[in-house]
Amino acid sequence: MNSMTRACSQVVDLLFPRGCAGCDSPDDVLCEDCMALFSRSSAQTFDGVAMGSWFACGWYRGTVRQAVLAWKDHGDEECDRPFSETICRLAETSGVIDFIHDRQNSYRAVFVVPAPSSHASMRRRGRRHMIPIVKRLASFLQRQTGCKVTVCDALENKGVKGKSVQTKGAAQRSQRLKGHVSVRSSVSLQNTMVILVDDIVTTGATMRSCVETMRKNGATVITVLALAHTPAGKQMDEPMQAQ
Ligand SMILES: [Zn+2]
Repeated sequence: MNSMTRACSQVVDLLFPRGCAGCDSPDDVLCEDCMALFSRSSAQTFDGVAMGSWFACGWYRGTVRQAVLAWKDHGDEECDRPFSETICRLAETSGVIDFIHDRQNSYRAVFVVPAPSSHASMRRRGRRHMIPIVKRLASFLQRQTGCKVTVCDALENKGVKGKSVQTKGAAQRSQRLKGHVSVRSSVSLQNTMVILVDDIVTTGATMRSCVETMRKNGATVITVLALAHTPAGKQMDEPMQAQ
């Protein structure tokens, strides 16, 4: 967001107080009901990570989808805080804290790595929306485990040039981005423990590619934490299952 846009949005905020990013109920960044939808965490089996599963806070549909898109694509930066809190809670409930605590002496460093954004999407959004989330997660993990945990922006995504990226379906897009992810030449992941954090996991192709790349570069990937996911084989309009 540039300064002019920011100034305009501040004026708009004064005239029209904000509504919940998920359901638009008044005076909340993310209301209690919508926040609760990010507490339906689920584990997905994945043998590429040391914990054997990756985890998501909520199902990418309905108000969850609405809220994530408001934050990710429409610059709702006030969601940084509630989304950081849900990711921290997920780290706690999924057992990441104990995992790090028990193994910290065997590794050189513990890194929290944000999923990479392509240059095109960074330009479009004007910021790296994952950065505030991973920063808060790293300091939370450091407090909880008592060992040093730092953000490491290890991955880059060369992406695909041109408009086609936006018009393709999620599966095709993931397929196209796969293989374009690499570890930055300035970063060493040898003998490190790494947690990958992503916003939305749909097919999982990009996530797997990120994990694979980091492992090839010497990292032990503990797990992946995501804000929202599309469960395999489920349709967007299926009713929410109670958990
Ligand atoms: Zn709401």
